[in-house]
Amino acid sequence: SSINQSNYDVVIVGSGAGAMASSIVAADHGLSVLVVEKSAHYGGTSALSGGGIWIPNNDHFKAKGGEDSYQLAFDYLKASTENTVSEPRLHAYLTQAPEMIRYLENNSRVRYAVAEKYPDYYPHLEGALPGGRTLDPEIFDTKCMGSEVDNQLKASASTLLMGKIAWTARDAHKAMARERGWRFLLLKLMLRYKLDFSQRRKTKRDRRAALGSSLVASLRQSMTDRNIPLWLNTDFTDIVLNNEKVSGIEVVREGEKQIINSALGVIFASGGFEQNQKLREKYLPEPSNVKWSATPPGHNTGAALEAGIRAGAKTDIMDWCWWSPTVNVPKEDKARGIFAERAFPGAIVVDGLGKRFVNEAAPYLEFGDAMYRNNAATGGKSLPAWVIFDANFRFNYAMGPFMPAQIQPDSRLPKGWLNTLYWKAENLNDLAKQIQIDPEGLSQTVERINRFAKTGVDEDFGRGGNVFDRYYGDTNVKPNPCIAPVAKGPFYAMRIEAGDIGTKGGLLTNEHAQVLSDTNTPIAGLYAIGNCSASVMGRSYPGAGATLGPAMTFGYIAANHIAKGR
Ligand code: FAD
Repeated sequence: SSINQSNYDVVIVGSGAGAMASSIVAADHGLSVLVVEKSAHYGGTSALSGGGIWIPNNDHFKAKGGEDSYQLAFDYLKASTENTVSEPRLHAYLTQAPEMIRYLENNSRVRYAVAEKYPDYYPHLEGALPGGRTLDPEIFDTKCMGSEVDNQLKASASTLLMGKIAWTARDAHKAMARERGWRFLLLKLMLRYKLDFSQRRKTKRDRRAALGSSLVASLRQSMTDRNIPLWLNTDFTDIVLNNEKVSGIEVVREGEKQIINSALGVIFASGGFEQNQKLREKYLPEPSNVKWSATPPGHNTGAALEAGIRAGAKTDIMDWCWWSPTVNVPKEDKARGIFAERAFPGAIVVDGLGKRFVNEAAPYLEFGDAMYRNNAATGGKSLPAWVIFDANFRFNYAMGPFMPAQIQPDSRLPKGWLNTLYWKAENLNDLAKQIQIDPEGLSQTVERINRFAKTGVDEDFGRGGNVFDRYYGDTNVKPNPCIAPVAKGPFYAMRIEAGDIGTKGGLLTNEHAQVLSDTNTPIAGLYAIGNCSASVMGRSYPGAGATLGPAMTFGYIAANHIAKGR
C-alpha cells in the first residue's frame, strides 16, 4: 500500500519516564527502538512531577547505614494493597526496582539521592519505614542537551521556587518545614539563579533541572547518547495484530497515517485516561472533571487503554485515581496539587457544612478519597472543599500558589485571584458567607481545632499523630507541629477540588509487564507500564514515588523480557 511503513524491534508509545527508561534498556540489549509521543513535547506528566521514585531496599539508603529488607517491604506492600495484587507482581517489583535504579545510575545519566526523612505514607502498617525508600533526583545540568531541552515539557511553576528556580525535594522540604538555615538556603538558590548570566540573557528557564524535570532530561540525554529516535507529534491510534500477536502500531504522524512494525514488542507507556472527560465519566466516581487534574491538558486520553480493550485485554482498578486535592489557579492550564500545605499548622479543610471531614495531613490519595466519601455522606457538600487559614498561617507558610506573606504579601498577589482563587474577610462569619458555607458549623469547627492546638491532640482525626503527618509539620510549633490555632484575622479561604495526578487503573499485566487477555494469558508482543497499566500498588499509595518507581521498573522488566525472548 501507499502507507508509509517503518521497522523496529521495539516500539514504545509515550515518552514519560517509564517509556524512556525502557527504551534505554532495550537499546543496551542491542535492539532497535523507537519512542513515539503524540504531543509536540516529550516527558508527559513525568516531566512536571516531583520525579521521586519509591524503591524499597535501595542501595542509597543502605550506603548511608539505613536498614530495609525485601521481607519488610513485602509485608508492607501486602498490607497496603490488601491482597488485590498478585504476589508474583509484588515480588517482581520488589526484586527489580532496586536493580532498575542501580542499572540506570551505572549506565545512564540518571542520578538520585535518598530522601532519608521522607516517611512511607502508611506508618501504621507492618513493614513501614520512617524514611529511606523514596529517592529524589539530583540536579541535572541541561547544558549538554543543546536545543533538545526546548522540546521537553516545561516543569510546572508549582514545582519551582518562585515559579522559576529549580530545587530538589530535599531542599523544598527544608524550606517548607522551616528547618534551621532555611532562609539562607532560599537566598543561595535565588542568587545562583540570578548569577547564571549566560543563561539569564537567553531565557527564564533554569539551566539546572530538578525533580521530574531532571529525571526526564537525564533520561532524554541518555537516549541521545544511544541515538534512540524519539518522534514527536506522532499519535498512536491502534495496534496491528497478526496471528494473535501484536506486530506493530498505527500512528498519525504530522497528520499522516503510518504503520510502525515491531519485530519483538510494543510497550504501551502512554499514561492514563485522566485527560479524557468521557472516559472519566464512564469509569471514575461522580462527579469528575478533567479540569481538576494536575496532569498536562490533552496528553493522556486513554488511547492505549481503548486499543487494549479492543484487542481483548483485561482491565483493573478502573474506578480509581492517584487522587490529590488540587486548586485551579486563574490563567494556568492545569490544576496544582495541594500535596503538603494542608498539613502545616493553622490551616484546616472544611466542607459546605463548615465541618472537617479528614485529617488534613493525610496522604493525598486518602485525602481525595475522603472528599468523595464525605461528599456521598453529606449529599454533595465536599466537592469542592475549602481550606481555611488565618493571618499567622498566611505570613509563615506557602499555600497553593501563595508564597508566605513575609515573602509575598497580599498586595503582591495577581489582581484576578481575589474572589476567584481565594476569599478573604476580617472575621470567620463573613468569610463563611462569602464562600456560602455554614457559618455556625465553621465557627464550631474552629473553636474545636483551637482547643486541639492547646492540647496537641486532634480528638476527631488524629492529625499530627504519626511520623508521616509530622513530615510536613512545623518543628517550631508545639505541642503538635501540625496544629495551630486559626485565630488571627484576616481569614482566608481557598477552594480545593477532588483532583488527581493521573488515573490508577488500566490494562492488567503480569509480572513481566505483559498485557493479559480475558483468559489471563499474555497478548503476545504487548506490554504496558505506568498509568496505562493497572497499578502494582492496587488502590494504595504506599510512599512518595509509588507511581514513577513502578513505571520505570516495569519498563526495565518489559525491555529485559523482550530481549530475553528474542
Ligand atoms: P506520562 O508521564 O504522562 O507519559 C505519558 C505520555 O504518553 C505523555 O507524554 C502523552 O502525551 C503520551 N501519549 C498519550 N497518548 C498517546 C498516544 N495516543 N500516542 C502517543 N503518545 C501518547 N509520581 C511519582 O511517583 N513521584 C513523584 O514525585 C510525583 N510527583 C508528581 C507531581 C505532580 C505535580 C504531578 C502532576 C504528578 C506527580 N506524580 C509523581 C505522578 C506521576 O507524574 C505520574 O503518575 C507519572 O508521570 C505517569 O507516568 P506515565 O509514563 O504513565 O505517563
